[in-house]
Amino acid sequence: MSATVPDRVDAVVVGAGPVGCALALLLGARGRSVLVVERHVGPYPLPRAVHFDDEAARILQACSLGPDLPGLSEPATTYEWRNGDGVPLLRFETSTEGRQGWPSANMFNQPDLEARLLDRVETTEGLSLLWGHTVVDAGQHGDGAWVEIEPAGGGTRQRVSGSYVVGCDGANSTIRDLLGVDLDDRGFYFDWLVVDVALHEPRVFDPPNLQVCDPSRPTTVVSGGPGRRRWEFMCLPGETLETLDEQAAAWAFLEPWDVHPSNATMVRHAGYRFRARWATRWHDGRIFLAGDAAHQTPPFAGQGMCAGLRDAANLAWKLDYALGHPHATALLDTYDNERIPQAAAVIEVATELGRVICIPDEEEARARDDQMAPLVPPGGSTPAPPMPAISDGILTDSAGAGELFIQATVRVGDAVGRLDDVVGAGWHLVTSGDPRELDGELATWFESVGGRSVAIGTTVEDIEGRYGQWFVDHGVTAVLERPDFAIYGTAATHGEVGALVSRLRNQLEASQDAGCSAIAGHLL
Ligand SMILES: Cc1cc2nc3c(=O)[nH]c(=O)nc-3n(C[C@H](O)[C@H](O)[C@H](O)COP(=O)(O)OP(=O)(O)OC[C@H]3O[C@@H](n4cnc5c(N)ncnc54)[C@H](O)[C@@H]3O)c2cc1C
Repeated sequence: MSATVPDRVDAVVVGAGPVGCALALLLGARGRSVLVVERHVGPYPLPRAVHFDDEAARILQACSLGPDLPGLSEPATTYEWRNGDGVPLLRFETSTEGRQGWPSANMFNQPDLEARLLDRVETTEGLSLLWGHTVVDAGQHGDGAWVEIEPAGGGTRQRVSGSYVVGCDGANSTIRDLLGVDLDDRGFYFDWLVVDVALHEPRVFDPPNLQVCDPSRPTTVVSGGPGRRRWEFMCLPGETLETLDEQAAAWAFLEPWDVHPSNATMVRHAGYRFRARWATRWHDGRIFLAGDAAHQTPPFAGQGMCAGLRDAANLAWKLDYALGHPHATALLDTYDNERIPQAAAVIEVATELGRVICIPDEEEARARDDQMAPLVPPGGSTPAPPMPAISDGILTDSAGAGELFIQATVRVGDAVGRLDDVVGAGWHLVTSGDPRELDGELATWFESVGGRSVAIGTTVEDIEGRYGQWFVDHGVTAVLERPDFAIYGTAATHGEVGALVSRLRNQLEASQDAGCSAIAGHLL
């Protein structure tokens, strides 16, 4: 199970949770060498996250997990919030065909997903996974960084070096502490009892995903992935998690839902304090933070792991570029500029949702109901809060820049499938028709950074017409999509496509010499 320690790797990743594994796989897919160091001696067996969105699914697709996702997850359709009398306060409808080519909400069991990720890490060339070693120190020098590792149970410490170190070591991150990074804490925290069960027989829950905003016991009732259910019960004022977090108490909470030992197996019960906070800096030179090490969110938007996967997708292509262009430090600075405001905005949304349900006071709950219930259209749905765009970093000021592009099904020759699988992941220059713009040197440069031209309607057939519709809706003829699916920029006419790619080239090349302000400011 354990790897030998390579002399030096491109990146040392601390922590084999979903974010560390995803980052390793995204770097491995680019031919980079990675050592993942994990303090536990084997996989963490207990469920935590139960939801990921379509963007996260596309990132997992880039980690080569696409074929596994339908078996690992089930699409969510309705997510309803009701008061104590069953009156709807919010009703989110999600689509089985999300914008990134996957269902927009997917329910799953985190250990099952992690098992696939770990399996890929252990079988991908260039990646090694060292179990049972705790990172106890870290540092950096001119052209590299290092961590000091200690074997489980004690023994000789050892130093491991890489060009970069990334702390994906969870909420109590050692790497964050070693960097001396502060947390911006919104002060919104509550204790909840989390109970996961495996049902002996399939059962229909209507609605399938529910928040019971009952001040006498705020409760979450959602899918926990195929064959599983998740309940969460808020700890009320005057109670302690220690008294709630008992097997008998957990079964008693499940009784009103007709769930008991004769029809379900309890997978776990655990007390959990959720928080809303993020690190104020996400890197220092060659040492980075990602995932829960960088941010923690209340669970009501199901976004903690999703945000961590976004970190991995953002960081992977930048580290890859910096490994090939050793002075691209300003490019690496954009990791903080792009990710911190976006993650903070998502945490704010989750916190606002938390303010709806975490109300144990009857009067306050009545005031909330009076305000919210009339806004739910009968039989209709509440628009989901839009995913915040990137507003500063590697992007232009053209239409749609910073937002996520789409992924749809295409045909190239005999190959039919999602775009990333058919043409490959990376920078995509998606054009309506073939603009024949990228000739000679610029085309060679674009290919050298992993760019691919996707000429919709000529070499690439837009089977569902979704790309064509997107171009019409946005009044453009071309999109330059980043490897993390954000839009770098758009071109209104075919004549502007070359200039768009040149602009990217200038911006990336400037990142090798100039400071962050040049890359994030003047060139936009
Ligand atoms: C009850 C609950 C519900 C949730 N629901 C959702 C949801 O629906 N959707 C969602 O997206 N997210 C959800 N989350 C959040 C999600 O589980 C986390 O965001 C995710 O697990 C974070 O992944 P990570 O890889 O960053 O960190 P972790 O999963 O915490 O992994 C960190 C790893 O680093 C290792 N490590 C730590 N320190 C060291 C060290 N010094 N040396 C070596 N290794 C080290 C740890 O052992 C661990 O394996 C939920 C969380 C909880 C608790």
